[in-house]
Amino acid sequence: MSEYLPQDNNENSLWVETAVAGPESESLNESMQADVLVVGGGYTGLSAALHLAEKGVSVVLLEAKNIGFGGSGRNAGLVNAGIWKTPDDVQNLIGPDAAKRFNLALRDSPALVFDLVERFNLQCQAERCGTVHIAHRADAMAYLEDRCQQLQKLGAAAQLIDGSQAEAISGSPLYRHGGILDPGAGTVHPLSYARSLAKAAINRGVRLFQHSGIESLNRYNDRWLAKTANGEVIAEQAIIAINAYADAKSKKVRKSTLPVFIFHCATPPLPAEIAASIIPQRHGLWDTDSLLTSSRIDAEGRLVMSAPGRLHGFQRRIRESWMMRKRDRLYPQLKGTPWAYQWSGQIGVTSTKILRVQLLAPGLFAPAGYNGRGIGVGTVMGKQLADTIASGNRDDFPFPIEALYREKWSKMRAAYYDYGTLALEFFSSRG
Ligand SMILES: Cc1cc2nc3c(=O)[nH]c(=O)nc-3n(C[C@H](O)[C@H](O)[C@H](O)COP(=O)(O)OP(=O)(O)OC[C@H]3O[C@@H](n4cnc5c(N)ncnc54)[C@H](O)[C@@H]3O)c2cc1C
Repeated sequence: MSEYLPQDNNENSLWVETAVAGPESESLNESMQADVLVVGGGYTGLSAALHLAEKGVSVVLLEAKNIGFGGSGRNAGLVNAGIWKTPDDVQNLIGPDAAKRFNLALRDSPALVFDLVERFNLQCQAERCGTVHIAHRADAMAYLEDRCQQLQKLGAAAQLIDGSQAEAISGSPLYRHGGILDPGAGTVHPLSYARSLAKAAINRGVRLFQHSGIESLNRYNDRWLAKTANGEVIAEQAIIAINAYADAKSKKVRKSTLPVFIFHCATPPLPAEIAASIIPQRHGLWDTDSLLTSSRIDAEGRLVMSAPGRLHGFQRRIRESWMMRKRDRLYPQLKGTPWAYQWSGQIGVTSTKILRVQLLAPGLFAPAGYNGRGIGVGTVMGKQLADTIASGNRDDFPFPIEALYREKWSKMRAAYYDYGTLALEFFSSRG
Protein backbone atom coordinates (compact mmCIF):
# COMPACT_ATOMS: atom_id res chain seq x y z
CA MET A 1 0.00 0.00 0.00
CA SER A 2 2.76 2.47 0.87
CA GLU A 3 4.25 1.95 -2.57
CA TYR A 4 0.90 2.67 -4.15
CA LEU A 5 0.49 6.13 -2.68
CA PRO A 6 3.93 7.49 -2.03
CA GLN A 7 2.97 11.08 -1.22
CA ASP A 8 1.75 10.16 2.21
CA ASN A 9 1.85 6.68 3.62
CA ASN A 10 -1.23 7.38 5.71
CA GLU A 11 -3.36 7.67 2.60
CA ASN A 12 -6.07 5.10 2.40
CA SER A 13 -7.48 4.73 -1.10
CA LEU A 14 -10.98 3.39 -1.56
CA TRP A 15 -10.05 2.28 -5.06
CA VAL A 16 -7.06 0.24 -3.94
CA GLU A 17 -9.21 -1.49 -1.33
CA THR A 18 -12.08 -2.34 -3.69
CA ALA A 19 -10.48 -2.86 -7.12
CA VAL A 20 -10.40 -6.07 -9.10
CA ALA A 21 -7.04 -7.84 -8.96
CA GLY A 22 -4.27 -6.39 -11.10
CA PRO A 23 -2.70 -8.31 -13.96
CA GLU A 24 -0.16 -11.01 -13.22
CA SER A 25 3.07 -9.67 -14.60
CA GLU A 26 6.69 -9.62 -13.62
CA SER A 27 9.40 -7.04 -13.99
CA LEU A 28 11.49 -7.01 -17.12
CA ASN A 29 14.77 -8.89 -16.81
CA GLU A 30 15.69 -9.68 -20.40
CA SER A 31 16.25 -8.03 -23.77
CA MET A 32 13.17 -7.73 -25.99
CA GLN A 33 12.19 -6.40 -29.37
CA ALA A 34 8.83 -4.90 -30.36
CA ASP A 35 7.29 -2.75 -33.04
CA VAL A 36 6.17 -0.24 -30.41
CA LEU A 37 7.31 0.43 -26.86
CA VAL A 38 4.70 2.02 -24.61
CA VAL A 39 6.00 3.62 -21.42
CA GLY A 40 3.41 4.12 -18.65
CA GLY A 41 0.55 1.91 -17.47
CA GLY A 42 -2.26 4.47 -17.19
CA TYR A 43 -5.24 4.89 -19.52
CA THR A 44 -3.18 6.52 -22.27
CA GLY A 45 -0.54 3.80 -22.43
CA LEU A 46 -3.00 0.95 -21.90
CA SER A 47 -5.44 2.18 -24.54
CA ALA A 48 -2.57 2.70 -27.00
CA ALA A 49 -1.21 -0.79 -26.29
CA LEU A 50 -4.61 -2.48 -26.57
CA HIS A 51 -5.53 -0.72 -29.82
CA LEU A 52 -2.11 -1.40 -31.34
CA ALA A 53 -2.31 -5.09 -30.39
CA GLU A 54 -5.75 -5.30 -31.99
CA LYS A 55 -4.15 -4.16 -35.23
CA GLY A 56 -1.54 -6.89 -35.01
CA VAL A 57 1.30 -4.58 -33.93
CA SER A 58 3.73 -6.11 -31.42
CA VAL A 59 3.88 -4.07 -28.21
CA VAL A 60 5.87 -4.06 -24.98
CA LEU A 61 4.44 -1.89 -22.19
CA LEU A 62 6.67 -0.89 -19.28
CA GLU A 63 5.22 0.52 -16.06
CA ALA A 64 7.53 1.85 -13.36
CA LYS A 65 5.30 0.86 -10.41
CA ASN A 66 2.02 -0.96 -10.89
CA ILE A 67 -0.85 -0.55 -13.34
CA GLY A 68 -2.91 2.51 -12.43
CA PHE A 69 -0.26 3.87 -10.08
CA GLY A 70 -0.64 7.38 -11.56
CA GLY A 71 -3.77 9.45 -12.05
CA SER A 72 -5.52 6.43 -13.57
CA GLY A 73 -5.81 4.65 -10.23
CA ARG A 74 -6.59 7.69 -8.11
CA ASN A 75 -9.24 9.73 -9.88
CA ALA A 76 -12.92 10.30 -9.13
CA GLY A 77 -14.09 8.01 -11.92
CA LEU A 78 -16.24 10.59 -13.75
CA VAL A 79 -16.18 9.67 -17.42
CA ASN A 80 -16.86 13.06 -18.99
CA ALA A 81 -16.74 14.27 -22.58
CA GLY A 82 -14.49 17.10 -23.78
CA ILE A 83 -12.08 19.06 -21.62
CA TRP A 84 -12.41 21.85 -19.04
CA LYS A 85 -12.25 24.52 -21.72
CA THR A 86 -15.32 25.08 -23.85
CA PRO A 87 -15.32 24.25 -27.59
CA ASP A 88 -15.10 28.01 -28.37
CA ASP A 89 -12.11 28.42 -26.03
CA VAL A 90 -10.37 25.61 -27.90
CA GLN A 91 -11.15 27.32 -31.19
CA ASN A 92 -9.75 30.64 -29.96
CA LEU A 93 -6.56 28.92 -28.90
CA ILE A 94 -5.80 26.61 -31.81
CA GLY A 95 -7.89 27.94 -34.69
CA PRO A 96 -11.12 26.68 -36.28
CA ASP A 97 -9.89 23.70 -38.32
CA ALA A 98 -7.72 22.19 -35.60
CA ALA A 99 -10.43 22.90 -33.01
CA LYS A 100 -13.07 21.08 -35.03
CA ARG A 101 -11.01 17.88 -35.10
CA PHE A 102 -10.04 18.28 -31.44
CA ASN A 103 -13.56 18.96 -30.15
CA LEU A 104 -15.18 16.20 -32.18
CA ALA A 105 -12.63 13.60 -31.07
CA LEU A 106 -13.34 14.36 -27.41
CA ARG A 107 -17.08 14.91 -27.73
CA ASP A 108 -17.50 11.15 -28.05
CA SER A 109 -14.87 10.05 -25.53
CA PRO A 110 -17.37 8.47 -23.05
CA ALA A 111 -18.74 6.40 -25.95
CA LEU A 112 -15.26 4.96 -26.55
CA VAL A 113 -14.78 4.16 -22.85
CA PHE A 114 -18.16 2.43 -22.49
CA ASP A 115 -17.66 0.64 -25.83
CA LEU A 116 -14.37 -0.82 -24.60
CA VAL A 117 -16.03 -1.82 -21.34
CA GLU A 118 -18.65 -3.74 -23.29
CA ARG A 119 -16.42 -5.15 -26.00
CA PHE A 120 -13.78 -6.49 -23.60
CA ASN A 121 -16.13 -7.14 -20.69
CA LEU A 122 -14.02 -4.87 -18.46
CA GLN A 123 -14.92 -5.40 -14.79
CA CYS A 124 -14.98 -1.82 -13.53
CA GLN A 125 -18.46 -1.05 -12.17
CA ALA A 126 -19.15 1.06 -15.26
CA GLU A 127 -22.46 2.91 -15.17
CA ARG A 128 -23.55 5.05 -18.10
CA CYS A 129 -25.83 7.01 -15.84
CA GLY A 130 -24.94 10.54 -16.99
CA THR A 131 -22.87 13.27 -15.37
CA VAL A 132 -23.92 16.79 -14.43
CA HIS A 133 -21.89 20.00 -14.40
CA ILE A 134 -23.91 21.57 -11.62
CA ALA A 135 -24.27 25.23 -10.64
CA HIS A 136 -23.26 26.03 -7.07
CA ARG A 137 -24.90 29.48 -7.30
CA ALA A 138 -27.62 31.03 -9.42
CA ASP A 139 -25.17 33.34 -11.23
CA ALA A 140 -23.13 30.36 -12.47
CA MET A 141 -25.99 29.47 -14.79
CA ALA A 142 -25.05 32.13 -17.37
CA TYR A 143 -21.72 30.37 -17.93
CA LEU A 144 -23.37 26.93 -18.03
CA GLU A 145 -26.02 28.09 -20.50
CA ASP A 146 -23.34 29.40 -22.83
CA ARG A 147 -21.25 26.23 -22.40
CA CYS A 148 -24.28 24.04 -23.10
CA GLN A 149 -25.10 25.94 -26.29
CA GLN A 150 -21.55 25.45 -27.52
CA LEU A 151 -21.72 21.72 -26.77
CA GLN A 152 -25.05 21.39 -28.57
CA LYS A 153 -23.64 23.26 -31.57
CA LEU A 154 -20.95 20.58 -31.67
CA GLY A 155 -23.66 17.90 -31.79
CA ALA A 156 -23.21 16.74 -28.20
CA ALA A 157 -26.21 15.31 -26.35
CA ALA A 158 -25.69 17.79 -23.49
CA GLN A 159 -28.88 19.37 -22.17
CA LEU A 160 -29.64 22.12 -19.71
CA ILE A 161 -31.51 21.11 -16.56
CA ASP A 162 -33.40 23.49 -14.30
CA GLY A 163 -33.16 24.00 -10.55
CA SER A 164 -35.70 21.39 -9.55
CA GLN A 165 -34.12 18.75 -11.81
CA ALA A 166 -30.69 19.59 -10.38
CA GLU A 167 -32.00 19.23 -6.85
CA ALA A 168 -33.67 15.90 -7.66
CA ILE A 169 -30.56 14.52 -9.39
CA SER A 170 -28.17 15.63 -6.64
CA GLY A 171 -30.34 15.14 -3.57
CA SER A 172 -28.77 18.37 -2.29
CA PRO A 173 -30.73 21.43 -1.17
CA LEU A 174 -27.79 23.60 -2.30
CA TYR A 175 -27.56 22.34 -5.86
CA ARG A 176 -30.87 23.96 -6.77
CA HIS A 177 -29.96 26.26 -9.65
CA GLY A 178 -29.54 23.95 -12.61
CA GLY A 179 -26.71 22.50 -14.66
CA ILE A 180 -25.68 20.66 -17.81
CA LEU A 181 -26.63 16.98 -18.01
CA ASP A 182 -24.62 14.75 -20.32
CA PRO A 183 -26.69 11.57 -20.53
CA GLY A 184 -23.97 9.69 -22.47
CA ALA A 185 -21.35 10.16 -19.74
CA GLY A 186 -21.08 8.13 -16.54
CA THR A 187 -18.79 6.65 -13.91
CA VAL A 188 -16.31 3.81 -13.51
CA HIS A 189 -14.18 2.36 -10.73
CA PRO A 190 -11.03 4.04 -12.01
CA LEU A 191 -8.40 1.56 -10.82
CA SER A 192 -10.49 -1.42 -11.93
CA TYR A 193 -10.87 0.21 -15.35
CA ALA A 194 -7.06 0.52 -15.63
CA ARG A 195 -6.41 -3.01 -14.38
CA SER A 196 -9.07 -4.51 -16.66
CA LEU A 197 -7.70 -2.63 -19.65
CA ALA A 198 -4.28 -4.08 -18.80
CA LYS A 199 -5.67 -7.62 -18.70
CA ALA A 200 -7.47 -7.09 -22.01
CA ALA A 201 -4.21 -5.82 -23.53
CA ILE A 202 -2.29 -8.86 -22.25
CA ASN A 203 -4.98 -11.15 -23.67
CA ARG A 204 -4.47 -9.49 -27.06
CA GLY A 205 -0.73 -10.19 -26.90
CA VAL A 206 0.77 -7.11 -25.27
CA ARG A 207 3.86 -8.00 -23.25
CA LEU A 208 3.36 -5.95 -20.10
CA PHE A 209 5.88 -5.51 -17.29
CA GLN A 210 5.30 -3.77 -13.97
CA HIS A 211 8.06 -2.49 -11.67
CA SER A 212 10.03 -1.80 -14.83
CA GLY A 213 10.61 1.93 -15.06
CA ILE A 214 12.72 3.05 -17.98
CA GLU A 215 15.94 4.67 -16.90
CA SER A 216 17.13 5.77 -20.33
CA LEU A 217 15.81 5.98 -23.86
CA ASN A 218 18.18 6.47 -26.76
CA ARG A 219 18.41 6.03 -30.50
CA TYR A 220 20.21 2.82 -31.42
CA ASN A 221 20.55 1.66 -35.05
CA ASP A 222 17.55 3.78 -36.09
CA ARG A 223 15.40 2.31 -33.36
CA TRP A 224 14.63 3.16 -29.74
CA LEU A 225 16.56 1.46 -26.98
CA ALA A 226 14.97 1.70 -23.52
CA LYS A 227 16.86 0.41 -20.52
CA THR A 228 15.34 -0.62 -17.22
CA ALA A 229 17.24 -1.76 -14.13
CA ASN A 230 17.47 -5.36 -15.37
CA GLY A 231 16.37 -5.39 -18.98
CA GLU A 232 16.01 -3.53 -22.24
CA VAL A 233 13.55 -3.09 -25.07
CA ILE A 234 14.41 -2.25 -28.66
CA ALA A 235 11.48 -0.84 -30.63
CA GLU A 236 10.79 0.90 -33.91
CA GLN A 237 8.60 3.52 -32.24
CA ALA A 238 7.73 4.59 -28.72
CA ILE A 239 4.92 6.33 -26.87
CA ILE A 240 5.84 8.07 -23.65
CA ALA A 241 2.59 8.00 -21.65
CA ILE A 242 3.88 9.04 -18.25
CA ASN A 243 2.02 12.36 -18.06
CA ALA A 244 1.86 13.94 -14.56
CA TYR A 245 3.74 10.99 -13.04
CA ALA A 246 6.92 11.64 -15.00
CA ASP A 247 9.86 11.14 -12.66
CA ALA A 248 12.86 13.43 -12.26
CA LYS A 249 14.72 11.63 -15.06
CA SER A 250 11.96 12.38 -17.57
CA LYS A 251 12.52 16.14 -17.45
CA LYS A 252 11.02 16.98 -20.85
CA VAL A 253 7.65 15.53 -19.91
CA ARG A 254 7.80 16.55 -16.27
CA LYS A 255 8.42 20.19 -17.07
CA SER A 256 5.71 20.38 -19.74
CA THR A 257 2.95 20.68 -17.10
CA LEU A 258 2.38 22.02 -13.58
CA PRO A 259 1.97 19.29 -10.97
CA VAL A 260 -1.28 20.06 -9.15
CA PHE A 261 -2.90 17.86 -6.51
CA ILE A 262 -6.48 16.74 -6.05
CA PHE A 263 -7.68 14.87 -2.96
CA HIS A 264 -10.61 12.62 -2.22
CA CYS A 265 -12.56 11.71 0.88
CA ALA A 266 -15.12 8.89 0.96
CA THR A 267 -17.60 7.73 3.57
CA PRO A 268 -18.16 4.12 4.62
CA PRO A 269 -21.06 2.40 2.81
CA LEU A 270 -24.13 4.44 3.75
CA PRO A 271 -27.35 2.95 5.13
CA ALA A 272 -29.58 2.14 2.14
CA GLU A 273 -32.18 4.85 2.77
CA ILE A 274 -29.51 7.56 3.10
CA ALA A 275 -27.60 6.36 0.04
CA ALA A 276 -30.87 6.44 -1.91
CA SER A 277 -31.40 10.09 -0.98
CA ILE A 278 -28.04 11.32 -2.33
CA ILE A 279 -27.52 11.36 -6.12
CA PRO A 280 -30.26 8.70 -6.33
CA GLN A 281 -29.70 7.81 -9.99
CA ARG A 282 -25.92 7.58 -9.49
CA HIS A 283 -24.91 10.48 -11.74
CA GLY A 284 -21.42 11.89 -11.40
CA LEU A 285 -21.50 15.57 -10.34
CA TRP A 286 -18.95 18.35 -10.42
CA ASP A 287 -19.77 21.89 -9.51
CA THR A 288 -18.90 25.41 -10.67
CA ASP A 289 -17.35 26.53 -7.38
CA SER A 290 -13.81 27.98 -7.55
CA LEU A 291 -12.80 25.14 -5.19
CA LEU A 292 -14.40 22.70 -7.58
CA THR A 293 -15.96 19.75 -5.77
CA SER A 294 -17.15 16.50 -7.33
CA SER A 295 -19.54 13.98 -5.77
CA ARG A 296 -20.55 10.47 -6.71
CA ILE A 297 -21.80 7.31 -5.06
CA ASP A 298 -19.78 4.12 -5.59
CA ALA A 299 -21.12 0.61 -6.16
CA GLU A 300 -21.39 -0.12 -2.42
CA GLY A 301 -23.17 3.14 -1.59
CA ARG A 302 -20.24 5.26 -0.38
CA LEU A 303 -20.21 8.98 -1.11
CA VAL A 304 -16.92 9.91 -2.81
CA MET A 305 -15.99 13.61 -2.99
CA SER A 306 -12.98 15.36 -4.47
CA ALA A 307 -11.52 18.89 -4.41
CA PRO A 308 -8.20 20.57 -5.23
CA GLY A 309 -5.30 20.09 -2.82
CA ARG A 310 -2.90 17.57 -1.37
CA LEU A 311 -3.05 15.65 1.89
CA HIS A 312 0.52 16.15 2.88
CA GLY A 313 1.52 16.66 6.53
CA PHE A 314 -0.42 19.38 8.35
CA GLN A 315 -2.55 20.13 5.25
CA ARG A 316 -4.47 16.93 5.69
CA ARG A 317 -6.57 17.89 8.71
CA ILE A 318 -7.48 21.26 7.25
CA ARG A 319 -8.59 19.77 3.97
CA GLU A 320 -10.50 16.86 5.50
CA SER A 321 -12.38 19.14 7.85
CA TRP A 322 -13.15 21.61 5.02
CA MET A 323 -14.46 18.73 2.92
CA MET A 324 -16.61 17.47 5.78
CA ARG A 325 -18.17 20.90 6.30
CA LYS A 326 -18.84 21.22 2.58
CA ARG A 327 -20.30 17.71 2.51
CA ASP A 328 -22.57 18.42 5.48
CA ARG A 329 -23.87 21.59 3.84
CA LEU A 330 -24.52 19.77 0.57
CA TYR A 331 -25.92 16.58 2.07
CA PRO A 332 -27.07 17.42 5.63
CA GLN A 333 -28.32 13.88 6.19
CA LEU A 334 -24.62 12.85 6.52
CA LYS A 335 -23.82 14.99 9.60
CA GLY A 336 -21.80 12.91 12.03
CA THR A 337 -20.65 10.38 9.39
CA PRO A 338 -16.85 10.00 9.50
CA TRP A 339 -14.57 9.77 6.49
CA ALA A 340 -13.38 6.21 5.94
CA TYR A 341 -10.97 6.87 3.05
CA GLN A 342 -8.69 9.73 2.06
CA TRP A 343 -6.26 9.80 -0.84
CA SER A 344 -4.77 12.18 -3.37
CA GLY A 345 -3.16 12.31 -6.78
CA GLN A 346 -1.40 14.60 -9.17
CA ILE A 347 -2.74 16.07 -12.37
CA GLY A 348 -0.74 17.79 -15.09
CA VAL A 349 -2.01 21.33 -15.67
CA THR A 350 -1.07 23.50 -18.65
CA SER A 351 -1.24 27.29 -18.86
CA THR A 352 -3.74 27.05 -21.71
CA LYS A 353 -5.74 24.31 -19.93
CA ILE A 354 -5.47 22.34 -23.15
CA LEU A 355 -3.68 19.01 -23.38
CA ARG A 356 -0.39 18.88 -25.18
CA VAL A 357 1.24 16.22 -27.34
CA GLN A 358 4.96 16.82 -27.49
CA LEU A 359 7.08 15.38 -30.21
CA LEU A 360 10.20 14.61 -28.17
CA ALA A 361 12.04 13.35 -31.24
CA PRO A 362 10.88 12.24 -34.69
CA GLY A 363 8.19 9.59 -34.07
CA LEU A 364 8.38 9.89 -30.28
CA PHE A 365 5.06 11.14 -28.87
CA ALA A 366 4.55 12.30 -25.30
CA PRO A 367 0.97 13.33 -24.50
CA ALA A 368 0.43 15.13 -21.19
CA GLY A 369 -1.49 17.91 -19.48
CA TYR A 370 -5.03 16.57 -19.41
CA ASN A 371 -5.85 19.13 -16.69
CA GLY A 372 -7.76 16.63 -14.57
CA ARG A 373 -9.97 15.29 -17.35
CA GLY A 374 -8.26 12.08 -18.42
CA ILE A 375 -10.48 9.00 -18.42
CA GLY A 376 -12.05 9.83 -21.75
CA VAL A 377 -9.13 11.91 -22.97
CA GLY A 378 -6.49 9.27 -22.13
CA THR A 379 -8.54 6.49 -23.70
CA VAL A 380 -9.10 8.50 -26.90
CA MET A 381 -5.48 9.68 -26.96
CA GLY A 382 -4.22 6.08 -26.75
CA LYS A 383 -6.50 4.98 -29.58
CA GLN A 384 -5.56 7.94 -31.77
CA LEU A 385 -1.84 7.35 -31.22
CA ALA A 386 -2.34 3.68 -32.05
CA ASP A 387 -4.19 4.57 -35.27
CA THR A 388 -1.51 7.08 -36.27
CA ILE A 389 1.40 4.77 -35.57
CA ALA A 390 -0.23 1.75 -37.23
CA SER A 391 -1.19 3.69 -40.36
CA GLY A 392 1.95 5.81 -40.52
CA ASN A 393 -0.34 8.72 -41.37
CA ARG A 394 -0.57 11.70 -39.08
CA ASP A 395 -3.17 13.59 -41.10
CA ASP A 396 -6.13 12.30 -39.11
CA PHE A 397 -4.54 12.77 -35.67
CA PRO A 398 -6.96 15.19 -33.98
CA PHE A 399 -4.63 16.89 -31.50
CA PRO A 400 -2.02 19.56 -32.27
CA ILE A 401 1.51 18.19 -32.03
CA GLU A 402 4.02 20.56 -30.50
CA ALA A 403 7.76 20.68 -30.29
CA LEU A 404 9.18 20.78 -26.78
CA TYR A 405 7.29 23.00 -24.39
CA ARG A 406 8.28 24.01 -20.90
CA GLU A 407 5.91 25.53 -18.36
CA LYS A 408 7.73 28.42 -16.71
CA TRP A 409 8.14 28.61 -12.94
CA SER A 410 6.23 25.35 -12.63
CA LYS A 411 7.29 24.50 -9.07
CA MET A 412 6.54 27.98 -7.82
CA ARG A 413 3.17 28.16 -9.56
CA ALA A 414 2.21 24.70 -8.30
CA ALA A 415 3.11 25.73 -4.73
CA TYR A 416 1.13 28.95 -5.11
CA TYR A 417 -1.87 26.93 -6.24
CA ASP A 418 -1.44 24.41 -3.45
CA TYR A 419 -1.20 26.98 -0.67
CA GLY A 420 -3.88 29.14 -2.31
CA THR A 421 -6.42 26.31 -2.15
CA LEU A 422 -5.29 25.51 1.40
CA ALA A 423 -5.88 29.10 2.53
CA LEU A 424 -9.32 29.16 0.91
CA GLU A 425 -10.24 25.85 2.53
CA PHE A 426 -8.85 26.94 5.91
CA PHE A 427 -10.81 30.19 5.99
CA SER A 428 -14.00 28.81 4.50
CA SER A 429 -14.01 25.91 6.99
CA ARG A 430 -14.13 28.55 9.71
CA GLY A 431 -16.67 30.79 8.01
C1 LIG B 1 -7.21 12.90 -7.83
C2 LIG B 1 -7.56 12.92 -9.30
C3 LIG B 1 -8.89 13.01 -9.70
C4 LIG B 1 -9.23 12.99 -11.06
N1 LIG B 1 -10.54 12.91 -11.44
C5 LIG B 1 -10.84 12.67 -12.75
C6 LIG B 1 -12.16 12.36 -13.16
O1 LIG B 1 -13.07 12.23 -12.35
N2 LIG B 1 -12.41 12.19 -14.49
C7 LIG B 1 -11.42 12.26 -15.42
O2 LIG B 1 -11.70 12.10 -16.61
N3 LIG B 1 -10.13 12.47 -15.06
C8 LIG B 1 -9.81 12.66 -13.76
N4 LIG B 1 -8.51 12.83 -13.38
C9 LIG B 1 -7.46 12.85 -14.42
C10 LIG B 1 -7.07 11.45 -14.89
O3 LIG B 1 -6.98 10.55 -13.81
C11 LIG B 1 -5.72 11.51 -15.60
O4 LIG B 1 -5.74 12.54 -16.56
C12 LIG B 1 -5.40 10.21 -16.32
O5 LIG B 1 -5.47 9.13 -15.42
C13 LIG B 1 -4.04 10.28 -16.97
O6 LIG B 1 -3.76 9.01 -17.52
P1 LIG B 1 -2.35 8.73 -18.15
O7 LIG B 1 -2.34 7.33 -18.63
O8 LIG B 1 -2.03 9.76 -19.18
O9 LIG B 1 -1.30 8.94 -16.96
P2 LIG B 1 -1.17 8.16 -15.59
O10 LIG B 1 -2.37 7.41 -15.22
O11 LIG B 1 -0.67 9.16 -14.59
O12 LIG B 1 -0.05 7.08 -15.88
C14 LIG B 1 1.31 7.40 -16.04
C15 LIG B 1 2.11 6.17 -15.61
O13 LIG B 1 3.47 6.31 -16.03
C16 LIG B 1 4.27 5.63 -15.09
N5 LIG B 1 5.65 6.08 -15.23
C17 LIG B 1 6.20 7.27 -14.86
N6 LIG B 1 7.52 7.28 -15.17
C18 LIG B 1 7.79 6.08 -15.74
C19 LIG B 1 8.98 5.49 -16.27
N7 LIG B 1 10.17 6.13 -16.26
N8 LIG B 1 8.93 4.23 -16.78
C20 LIG B 1 7.74 3.56 -16.82
N9 LIG B 1 6.60 4.08 -16.32
C21 LIG B 1 6.62 5.32 -15.80
C22 LIG B 1 3.63 6.00 -13.76
O14 LIG B 1 4.00 5.10 -12.73
C23 LIG B 1 2.14 5.96 -14.11
O15 LIG B 1 1.54 4.71 -13.79
C24 LIG B 1 -8.18 12.92 -12.04
C25 LIG B 1 -6.84 12.86 -11.62
C26 LIG B 1 -6.54 12.84 -10.28
C27 LIG B 1 -5.09 12.72 -9.86
